[in-house]
Amino acid sequence: MSKYKSGFVTLLGRPNVGKSTLINKLVGKKITITSPIAQTTRNKLRGILTTDDTQMIFIDTPGVHKPHHLLGEKLVKNAISAINGVDLILLIFDSYYKPGRGDEYIRDLLITTKSKCIVVLNKWDLLENRDKFIRMDQYKELLNDNLISFQKVSAFSGYGCNQLTKKIREFLPEGKPLYPKDTIVDQPIKVLLSELIREQVLLNTREEIPHSVAVQIEKIEYKKNKGKEITAILATIIVERKSQKGILIGKGGSMLKVIGKSARINMRNLIEGSIYLELFVKVIPNWRKKESKLIEFGYEEDF
Ligand code: GDP
Ligand code: MG
Repeated sequence: MSKYKSGFVTLLGRPNVGKSTLINKLVGKKITITSPIAQTTRNKLRGILTTDDTQMIFIDTPGVHKPHHLLGEKLVKNAISAINGVDLILLIFDSYYKPGRGDEYIRDLLITTKSKCIVVLNKWDLLENRDKFIRMDQYKELLNDNLISFQKVSAFSGYGCNQLTKKIREFLPEGKPLYPKDTIVDQPIKVLLSELIREQVLLNTREEIPHSVAVQIEKIEYKKNKGKEITAILATIIVERKSQKGILIGKGGSMLKVIGKSARINMRNLIEGSIYLELFVKVIPNWRKKESKLIEFGYEEDF
């Protein structure tokens, strides 16, 4: 029997390359939100995969990009702090595209750390056959040869994911599991629930509601009715403008209904029994520029 291994694995990459999707695939449950819109992951989420011989704790970072406002700055700071002091970095690229300028920025960032690294070429399912031959070489060239291992995957289909977890294990130090074996995520349930609501806001409203939306879970109540478990959740969606509030509520509350229904379906992955979800919308002008609001909504730097 081989020795048990455990360690922290940070996923680093530009927005939208598929970091969150990959963690979900590797861990096997929907724990972090994904969307076609960049920058949906705000907090550093940890997804945990425990097998018979390894425990991998994945740290999801918001995509690294040039910050435009206070919230943006905090997102990037959190991402950079996540690459220090981990056992392994997964550097994720969207292999549908050949390497470009933004990728050089990430590479240079990586050079400043001494952590070990696996390069993951994601979205391999999207590549045309002729590109498959050249893409790996293009990325090897971008990164020089001081980075050891490359793995092509599709976080969508699961292609390459088993090989990836094998490679990850090779890099991790020997050690006991750091979390109980049935833990899949170490974020408080409140954070997960608010992320699931925010995901639906972004998916259903597209550009009309930009990233200035925040979700605050006001109350979670566990009840029992005729032996059945019921979880009642009260949440407020915070936007910056009155017009956005109108869009979010929709005609006769229709939009809010759609958002609530889809969020509730995803919450079933996290909560046993029935779920009762009540949503409110509140306008707080310019909340992203207010330090106190950032902290109140959970974006403080606690790492
Ligand atoms: P993140 O910003 O890096 O966390 O990216 P997400 O995980 O949110 O993914 C961004 C988008 O890419 C979503 O629409 C995903 O469904 C999509 N995506 C992620 N991985 C794959 C993949 O392997 N193949 C394809 N075709 N799409 C993917
Ligand atoms: Mg993400």
